[in-house]
Amino acid sequence: MELYNRTIQELGNMLASRQVSSVELLQAVLDRITAVEGTVQAYLTLDAEGARHQAENADRLLAKGEGGMLCGIPLSLKDVLCTKGLRTTCGSKILEPFVPPYNATVVEKIKDAGAVILGKVSMDEFAMGSSNENCAFSVPRNPWRTDCVCGGSSGGSAASVAAGEAVASIGSDTGGSIRQPASHCGVVGLKPTYGRVSRYGLVAYASSLDQLGPITRNVADNALLLQVMAGHDQRDSTSVDRPVPHYGSAVESGVKGLRLGLPKEYFAKGLAPEVEAAVRQAIEVLRGAGAEIVTVSLPHTEYCVAAYYIIASAEASSNLARFDGVRYGHRAQEGDTLQAMYSATRSQGFGDEVKRRIIIGTYALSSGYYDAYYKKASQVRSLIIDDYQQAFATCDVLVSAVAPTPAWRLGEMVDDPLSMYLSDILTISTNLAGLPGMSVPCGFSSTGLPIGLQLQGAHFQEERLFAVARVVERELGLDLSQPAGLTGLGGGR
Ligand code: GLN
Repeated sequence: MELYNRTIQELGNMLASRQVSSVELLQAVLDRITAVEGTVQAYLTLDAEGARHQAENADRLLAKGEGGMLCGIPLSLKDVLCTKGLRTTCGSKILEPFVPPYNATVVEKIKDAGAVILGKVSMDEFAMGSSNENCAFSVPRNPWRTDCVCGGSSGGSAASVAAGEAVASIGSDTGGSIRQPASHCGVVGLKPTYGRVSRYGLVAYASSLDQLGPITRNVADNALLLQVMAGHDQRDSTSVDRPVPHYGSAVESGVKGLRLGLPKEYFAKGLAPEVEAAVRQAIEVLRGAGAEIVTVSLPHTEYCVAAYYIIASAEASSNLARFDGVRYGHRAQEGDTLQAMYSATRSQGFGDEVKRRIIIGTYALSSGYYDAYYKKASQVRSLIIDDYQQAFATCDVLVSAVAPTPAWRLGEMVDDPLSMYLSDILTISTNLAGLPGMSVPCGFSSTGLPIGLQLQGAHFQEERLFAVARVVERELGLDLSQPAGLTGLGGGR
């Protein structure tokens, strides 16, 4: 197998035993990027030179038998994370020239663990979207079928890992943005529990929902990367001060005796038959491995899209007020007054979807409408949280599809934001309740697009998700290493 297709674990062993150097590994990944990036278009900023310095450093440590858990491993980062000295655009023109003066906490953590940061990958503008088509700069392609979307908003992260352009990536998930692109691209994605990972240095979209998480080739790598990312951070008061378990030990613990709940509302009209078939096949595999399968109900699921798009937009309208042309990024040259300059900057800098959310959010929070929209949505949110509490009284992990359909064609939904919002129906409740959620590949559509299985757990139950996901991965044994859309493009060793 080519170096660029291997897992963190395999490469970690090869690096530690000096079978390969970090500089050689980096070169293999850069060659792959050269070969496929013209098609995939995952990167917004590639920092080959910076990566080379980091790889040389890693080799020095490895030669002494030192180095952390990610020493010498090339990773990509969603462009929503602040990286000191490296441009951070959030997929938006308003931040096109923004070079942060500091690193996000997770960036510090992976650097301390020895990771080599290749660069910043594409995303929907300010993480608003489900297809990555809302990026102001480039729209990545699905490596399995390049006429299809890769999902969003962490589309560049998922596509870069699936295409062999990074060994793993970090994405963010506010309503599904790690799990859904992972599902569409055939990789493993985890949204950890709210509070598990520090968000210091993550550009905020909706602060009561946002969470950072790992996107990897397999389940064991996902556990390993979460291990490095997780933990309390004094600089993020929403990060929880609670011990971080050893996730790796949970991966092979199996599903014997676990009760897996199928939320009946998730198997409703609108779920594509081939998605349902793949999900049900995975459920049978889990039953065969010793899990007990029960049906549960999450009765308020039908309201989650409406509640989410009010709450997320309300928070976004407040968070995005800071982009005014004074302190960050783009500033319009027009405008005789401060107000006119703000207005011109924001009109030029934000794309249509971001403007739509700011308008919806401002409206929902405005006096006279607050009770009817924001307050009502918050009440619905409480009902959704109660639904989960009841479900977890009878089962350990919830199992479903990640998305109602496989990836769709590029352009198919761009003029229909409501349909795009509705496609988030299976992932956004997780965020409203602050729970951990995961996507693991469980099959392919008739046209060769990957399909993901979603696992949702109770707060801080990431270990159970890893255990269940690993059984699916091991028993199905899908070969996800050669995305069909990139066949023949090659890219070295
Ligand atoms: N698709 C959802 C939205 O557009 C979720 C995005 C996300 O998780 N960042 O808001």
